[in-house]
This record gives sequence, C-alpha cells and structure tokens, in this order.
Amino acid sequence: MISVEDARAVILAACPVLTRRALSLGDALGCVTAGSVVAGHDVPSFANSAMDGFAVRAADTAGAPVTLDVVGTAAAGAPPGVEVGPGQAVRIMTGAILPAGAFPADAIVMVERTAPAGAGRVSIEAAASAGDHVRHPGEDIRAGQTLFEPGTELGPGHLGVLASVGAATVDVVPKARVGVLSTGDELTSAPDDLRPGQIRDSNRPMLLALLAKAGCLPVDLGSAPDDEAAITAAIERGVAECDAILTSGGVSVGDFDYVKVVLDRLGDMHWWQVAVKPAKPLAFGTVAGTPVFGLPGNPVSSMVSFELFARPALRQMMGHRELFRPQLPAVTDEPLRRHPDGKVHFVRVVATTDDDGRLHVRSSGGQGSHLLRAMALANALAVLPDGAGVDANATVKVMLLT
Ligand code: AMP
Ligand code: MG
Repeated sequence: MISVEDARAVILAACPVLTRRALSLGDALGCVTAGSVVAGHDVPSFANSAMDGFAVRAADTAGAPVTLDVVGTAAAGAPPGVEVGPGQAVRIMTGAILPAGAFPADAIVMVERTAPAGAGRVSIEAAASAGDHVRHPGEDIRAGQTLFEPGTELGPGHLGVLASVGAATVDVVPKARVGVLSTGDELTSAPDDLRPGQIRDSNRPMLLALLAKAGCLPVDLGSAPDDEAAITAAIERGVAECDAILTSGGVSVGDFDYVKVVLDRLGDMHWWQVAVKPAKPLAFGTVAGTPVFGLPGNPVSSMVSFELFARPALRQMMGHRELFRPQLPAVTDEPLRRHPDGKVHFVRVVATTDDDGRLHVRSSGGQGSHLLRAMALANALAVLPDGAGVDANATVKVMLLT
C-alpha cells in the first residue's frame, strides 16, 4: 500500500500548470492570474463629486447659513462646464467633474444641507470644509500600481477592478477541460426500468458536477461497457479533447476490469492500493502526456478519491496556490469507531458550528463505500488515523468539503 501523501506527490509532479492565455473579462471568472496585473490609469481618473448637491469654495460657506448664486449644473458624464466664482455655487450630481478653473470648487455641500433661496440662489445651511465629499484622482487605484499578484483567483470584484482600469483581457491560467468516462456493463442512464443486474450510472453526473464545482470545464465522455475497443475509443477521444481525464470503475482486480488493460497499453500508469478507506484502488498516470485518474467504481470511493487526489492536481494545473481543502479541528458529538487496518479512514460527517463557537461533527450515516446518500449528506470528512477511532467529546481533524 502507498500512503495518501506519497500518491499525491507522484500525482502533483505529473500535473504541470496549463499554458497561460489572454481571456476576455467575461470568460475569466474563477481563473487564476498568470502574471501581475498593472493599472493603466488612475481610478478615479478625475476629481468628482461623491454626492448630489452643490459644488462650492469652502471659504465662501464660512459663517453659514449663507446664500450663493447658482451659476450652472454639472451632470455625471458631462464635459467640464461652468466655473465657480466667488459667492457662487454649481448644482452637481454624483460622479460629475468638480468645477475647476481660476476659482476651483474645493467642496461639495450635500443637497440635504441646503435650501432653495429664490430663483438662481441656494442657501447653504452648514459651513463646508475643503475636501468635503470630493473624490480625488487615484484614490482607489494609481496608474502603474500592481492590482493583483500572480496566482490571484479572479472573483466578481476583481473583474470589476479590471474593468475600471479599462482592461479588455487578462492573462490567466485557463480552466482545465476534464473528461469523465464511466465504465461497466451494468451501467445505464436510460429512464427505463432496470433490468436484473443493471444499476444507474451515478458516478458520471457526480464527477461532472464535482469538476464544475472545482472550476474545471467538464467534458462528458459517456459510459463504456466492459469492452476493450469501446474504452480505447473513449480514452483516445478524451486525450484529444481534454487536459485531463477521469474514469470510474474497472481499476480493481475484477475479471472484467478492462480500464486497466487499456490504460496499461496506451499510457504510463501506476496501479495503487492507497492506505485509505474509502478509495483504496487508484490508478494514475499519463496517456500521451494527459493525466488520467482511474477512480474506483464504488460511488463514495470515487468521490473521496476525487477529493483527495484529482481535485488538488486539477487546481494545481489551473494555477491555484491553495490546492487542498481546509482542515480544522472539530469536537465529536458521538463516538466515531473504526478497526485498525493500517489505513487512514475518512468518515462522512455533518459538521456544524455550535454556540461554543467550535465545529462539531456527527456521522452522516452508513459508511459503506456504496452508500452514496450518506456521502451526499456529509459536508466534511473526519480524518481518523489508524487505530480504534475516537470517543464522543474528543477532538478530531476534519476536511471541509464545502
Ligand atoms: P468496479 O470498480 O468496476 O469493480 O466497480 C465497483 C462497484 O462500483 C460496482 O458495484 C459497480 O457496479 C459500481 N459502479 C461502477 N461504476 C459506477 C457508476 N458509474 N455509477 C454507480 N456505480 C458504479
Ligand atoms: Mg466494473
């Protein structure tokens, strides 16, 4: 048996970062920056008003209330207009250019602190100080400033910032296109009644969804029967179209495990028994340079194997710095028992935050590797090292899945 850490090390070494590419902002959500992003201009790029109100020279409002002549209106988006002379004000809207010129306005009085004072006049009710409600050039971003370091995952806010400096594209590590192939004569995706021995293909939709959640571009390679030619055709399609491939089933020691036969012929594979439960059988290698993860067929094993091995490797390919799910200590609300077997057990648990501010866990249900519902209900995996498990009220390490 190989340890989780040793298997991971081999996998990560064979999954290099994908080649960088310029993407439009609309396509870059969730991608990781491939270089530093530098601002081309200041934001704001001109002094403007933070309020709807009146642009004034603060000195003219000393001894308020005072009445000023309103000599014009400045709207957002309008070119620079009237200037403010002594004793004058300009009606101004949020985002409009601050009146400049020989007597530049230096403060905004919000409309709520003013009152109409007859035609073309306004009463300023409270004295303003220079700079009141003025947005200064470069206050948010300076031209030449590094906005984001390489390795930054672009969220909605980042895309907004890039748009604010006029970036049309951004250099990122692209999302990995990852193919999913399920294998097994017993599988069906048809809505018909099941024939004896048939089961529905649950791994393929599950793995496609796990990929989407991991920020990859899932590619459905369908389901192949336990047949060498069919599996070969699907793998070859995957290698041609994808950056990585996940297969499920056929990597154990069964008589019809043709995934093993095909991958051994096409690629350079490791066939591991990992010291972990669930997810013991795992195949990993490359076919024509494309990483291939041969995940076990049992649905819980397939999902845990994806979490432990495929997800970190795919994140690395997509340029992420943080590869692994967070692990936190939690309190057991019930005993989590296991038998010593030389393996680390990942127990499906529901983790909640209690009034004591700590994370608490209890089992989400049966722990068999075919019991997918208990896996679906779990939001974390409790990590039980080899031994007899833990008592209630003990501290256990948990890997958060959400
Ligand atoms: P295998 O790894 O092919 O020996 O399969 C192990 C177990 O997982 C068997 O009970 C299979 O029927 C089941 N299995 C394999 N592939 C899938 C799948 N795509 N969806 C649900 N169960 C599967
Ligand atoms: Mg099978």
